[in-house]
Amino acid sequence: MPPAEAKTLAERLAGLIAATGPISLARFMAEANADYYASRDPFGVEGDFITAPEISQMFGELTGLWLADLWSRAGAPANAHYVELGPGRGTLAEDALRAMRAVRFEPPIHLVETSPVLRANQASRLSTARWHDDLDTLPDCGPLFVVANEFFDALPIRQIRHSPDGWHEIMVDHRDGAFVPITWGPPLDTLVPEPLRDAPPGSVIETSPAVESTGRALAKRIAEQGGAALIIDYGYEGLATGDTLQAVSHHDHVDIFAEPGERDLTAHVNFSVIERIGRNTGLAVYGPIGQGDWLESLGIGARTAALAKAAPHRQAELIAARDRLTKADEMGDLFKAMALVAPDWPPPAAF
Ligand code: SAH
Repeated sequence: MPPAEAKTLAERLAGLIAATGPISLARFMAEANADYYASRDPFGVEGDFITAPEISQMFGELTGLWLADLWSRAGAPANAHYVELGPGRGTLAEDALRAMRAVRFEPPIHLVETSPVLRANQASRLSTARWHDDLDTLPDCGPLFVVANEFFDALPIRQIRHSPDGWHEIMVDHRDGAFVPITWGPPLDTLVPEPLRDAPPGSVIETSPAVESTGRALAKRIAEQGGAALIIDYGYEGLATGDTLQAVSHHDHVDIFAEPGERDLTAHVNFSVIERIGRNTGLAVYGPIGQGDWLESLGIGARTAALAKAAPHRQAELIAARDRLTKADEMGDLFKAMALVAPDWPPPAAF
């Protein structure tokens, strides 16, 4: 008998829903993103989206200088580790580690990455790295210098919607051949923070158990081992309503529920949640501040000028990249930088 053809994720999820009922939005998002990243390199003009390190080498270099500056003011500990969460193509790490090498900060490299395709991509640039499925297997000893750019936005979220009879969880059903969001289950009004409970009908509140558990694991490590985490992502602060879940394909917003695994699903990161976890764990928290301000403080202007002087034919391209990373109407404001730093460590630069 010929082997049965492998089922697509859409077929598997439809089968699961038919058998057990609607699934949580977090499950849908987790399965869709795991499938999406496992099977492709989505970055760049030809791909689905472009990230800051892919726009310019300056992003990774300035990140590396930020890390090296903190390391050196902390007494240049010899047992430090570089850790990156969701390193994509490995471009940020490559640029950061080059800048760090220039000041003799050459830590072992640890990459937390689940996608086999992206692991292979990273290996071609970072041959000495060690890979991890999650934070559990990171080294237990020595300060960690952690970078997470556009990692937290890919972690699954839950949504609760204000319906006529109270706040209900949004689940995903499969009807007439399509995945559809529905409100489901008992009212969850007691889970909604008091100031938001009377938000207008249709309002949505998002939470992310995955962001919280990853944030807690990260904060605990830094509190126990020393070091810092630099988190850069698009997001907001404070209590807010709003549906920020989005699907991107070929640089365009597309239907979130069509073709799971074929498009990138993300949500805005609530920085206040990570900030609270950091403070509760005893860490010093800096920011969030706009990515534009952070890069300006680190000297992106001078770095652009220096690179343009060395390669005058690239001047226009370098200025365009700097503008894209820093201008308020581009990535400068929506993208934010936040640092979690071990207790009794020096304050980091640029906050
Ligand atoms: N930091 C990179 C890539 C951002 S895209 C850049 O700035 O270009 C998100 C990255 O996180 C990808 O590498 C993806 O494979 C990884 N990723 C997403 N969910 C993950 C998870 N749950 N665990 C580990 N890595 C994950």
